[in-house]
Amino acid sequence: NERPPCCGGRSTFAPRTSSVSMKVIDHLKQAKKRTLFSFEILPPLKGKDIHSIYEGIDPLLEFKPSFINVTYHREEVIYKERGHGLLQKIRLRKRPGTIGICATIKTKYDIDTVPHLICGGFSREETEDALIELNFLGIDNVLALRGDAIKNESHFIPEREGHPFAVDLIRQAAGLNKGQYLHDEEMEAAPTDLCIGAACYPEKHPEALNLNVDVAYLKNKVDAGAEYLVTQMFFDNTKYFSFVEQCRAAGITVPIIPGLKPITTMRHIAFLPKTFRVDLPDAFAKELVKCKTNDAVKAVGVEWSIAQSKELMAKGAPCLHYYTMGKSDAVKQVVSSVF
Ligand code: FAD
Repeated sequence: NERPPCCGGRSTFAPRTSSVSMKVIDHLKQAKKRTLFSFEILPPLKGKDIHSIYEGIDPLLEFKPSFINVTYHREEVIYKERGHGLLQKIRLRKRPGTIGICATIKTKYDIDTVPHLICGGFSREETEDALIELNFLGIDNVLALRGDAIKNESHFIPEREGHPFAVDLIRQAAGLNKGQYLHDEEMEAAPTDLCIGAACYPEKHPEALNLNVDVAYLKNKVDAGAEYLVTQMFFDNTKYFSFVEQCRAAGITVPIIPGLKPITTMRHIAFLPKTFRVDLPDAFAKELVKCKTNDAVKAVGVEWSIAQSKELMAKGAPCLHYYTMGKSDAVKQVVSSVF
């Protein structure tokens, strides 16, 4: 049951499926100059079943996504009133199941999946276990992230024995690809063969002192083993183009995949710029402020996203990666005009 070398051949344990797993970097290489299509989904809220995932994927299948990313959600801390002035602290994971969902999608649709893995909440041992699990499942991809601070903490606090930055997680995954397991002095360890991706921010990461500093840290992630990058959502293509130029000047040569999100609701207008610290260009903002209903916002947002996508494609973006945030109808409208 060994897989051929072109698709993760060093792994000796793969599930019995007809699918041949491919790395994101190989999809990009094979596409040559063609722009690929991919998208990101969220695991369903705890208590919902897997069909809500299929409902998000099915409408996008006709556009032949090269890969599907599945986000990872850290636990949240909530406090419950227990009477007599007592508050109970509860750790709650609202969207569990990232790795299982990836394996299920791969088996059901024969499409490559990219599980996100974060530093937050993971010790190095738990990270290693998760990476081994991916290898056993025949999933050859991982997007390695730090994760955000827990909601009621002011800054990111790594787990005891966990990683403080994404670069450390990337180093661990890259080490495993060389057969470097934790505490492996007495083991003859088989290497994994994971394609590692990382995040980047055309408008800088909110915590970074400035874009130059952020790009310098980004270079460390690539040097540590990230083979491609996916951007935070942005609405101004000029910011992506100049960011790519800045990365190239800094010696970052890997593909930089633009991440796109069609704005579709009044709520998006209120929270996306604030949450992701992204600016809306004047021409787009002027149209959005005129909107009085979600339908009006959606019409403007979809039109903007189509124009963004077409320009990125015309200028040779390697792949257009869409953030569905659990809703695929707007992404479908955009993609059907572009691909
Ligand atoms: P890092 O690369 O570690 O950077 C974090 C900050 O630290 C940056 O400001 C950077 O400049 C700085 N920095 C880096 N190295 C150093 C150093 N050595 N010393 C000092 N400062 C340093 N979050 C989730 O929880 N789950 C997800 O599934 C998820 N998916 C995402 C997908 C994409 C494409 C993107 C763009 C983001 C995603 N996020 C996700 C959000 C991400 O976890 C946050 O943006 C997080 O705050 C930073 O993650 P990072 O991997 O970019 O961190």
